[in-house]
Amino acid sequence: MTSERQHTLAGTFTLRGVGLHTGGEASVSVGPAPENTGFTFQLKDGSRVAATPDAVRSTVRCTTLGSATAVVNTVEHVLAALAGMDVDNALIKIDGDEVPILDGSALPFARAIASAGLVEQSAARRTLDLRAPAWHRDADKLLVLLPAQRLAVTFFVDFPPPVGRQSISTGPITSEYFLREIAPSRTFGFRNEIEALMAQGLARGGSLDNAVVIDADGYMGPLRFPDEIVRHKVLDLIGDLALVGCYPNCEVIALKSGHTLHVAAARDLRAPTTAAAR
Ligand SMILES: [Zn+2]
Repeated sequence: MTSERQHTLAGTFTLRGVGLHTGGEASVSVGPAPENTGFTFQLKDGSRVAATPDAVRSTVRCTTLGSATAVVNTVEHVLAALAGMDVDNALIKIDGDEVPILDGSALPFARAIASAGLVEQSAARRTLDLRAPAWHRDADKLLVLLPAQRLAVTFFVDFPPPVGRQSISTGPITSEYFLREIAPSRTFGFRNEIEALMAQGLARGGSLDNAVVIDADGYMGPLRFPDEIVRHKVLDLIGDLALVGCYPNCEVIALKSGHTLHVAAARDLRAPTTAAAR
């Protein structure tokens, strides 16, 4: 169906900032990688780990990957930007414990990828076609995957006011669509939860500069989209599905799902019983 080839970055870019959870300064450099290697993280101790479901160490509040000797937190936004911007292979070097949160969205990564440019590689893009519908459920959270020509997402969330119920049905997630409609959406949190996390020494880097903060009276700052919350859920999903290691051609229907179900789906998509990889 597709004769697209793999792409990697034409150059390397570096972004610096604080980590959302640790509050520590960190830098991330993203650069080219050989074909058929996918996304590889080089961690602060120099060890390397491929971005796969087997490397996931935690899905509490963010997706954390680990090698045998080190971990990196909050990988989902840079992975979403790479997958969303049509990159197949990249080496992501982290100096710190966490990918910097930047403005809380994937836009700084997506723009940096666009500025660096892509080069075509000789191998054909690795894609994956579902043979049959698949689903993952955890209490009231549900993720359904249906065979499709290209990745598209329908996402429903239901949060306390003022967010309430939000839903989005994306078109096919091309790089243009991703950059315009998904990448700018920022991570979010409820003020009372953030204050509780900070009291435990977590979310140390969180601020109104890198997150949509919500309290009982409303949003504590302007939104980039009226439905920015559900758009960010799509962003996180794209980042977690990048762990599949290729481009999954499926339509995803997500109800209130999060990193844990997303990673379960990525693990299942890698299994040959449910999908045919090319
Ligand atoms: Zn996120």
